[in-house]
Amino acid sequence: MEPAATPSRSVSDPGDGWEQIREYARQRCDQRSVKLTSFREAVLRQIALSKQPRGAYDIATRLGAELGKRVAPNSVYRVLDLLIECGLVQRVESKQAYCLAAPQFSKNALLLMCEGCGAVEPVDGSAIEDAMRQQAKAAHFRPLRKVIEITGICEACDAAQARDG
Ligand SMILES: [Zn+2]
Repeated sequence: MEPAATPSRSVSDPGDGWEQIREYARQRCDQRSVKLTSFREAVLRQIALSKQPRGAYDIATRLGAELGKRVAPNSVYRVLDLLIECGLVQRVESKQAYCLAAPQFSKNALLLMCEGCGAVEPVDGSAIEDAMRQQAKAAHFRPLRKVIEITGICEACDAAQARDG
């Protein structure tokens, strides 16, 4: 079987590309013998179609409206854990929310979070992660969890601000 192309879009470019993301997700799950059930797929879709990261309660509410029945946040949390495990979703710690993972980077991509439009863009954080590991090691500190998130203004919002003076 041909490996699916790495999805080119990220959460900062919503709209198109869901089919590509779904195909990629299916293959990732297949590789791990995880079944991409319709509910798991629906949770992933909620994240994929949003420009901003979404919280588990928000996802549960939206899915409930879509499916016409109550969706327990706990069941969404379980799916999110699984999607993170499969490298499809990344947690945005400072927002207690979730965005699509960038499969070309490590699980802990550096997250650029725009304060203008709320979009989150994962970028390569491996150099920073290495530096953090070395600093922690030098201080004889054993890191358990590393979070690399930067707030700022994205290119589009920056251009809009410049235009509007
Ligand atoms: Zn922005």
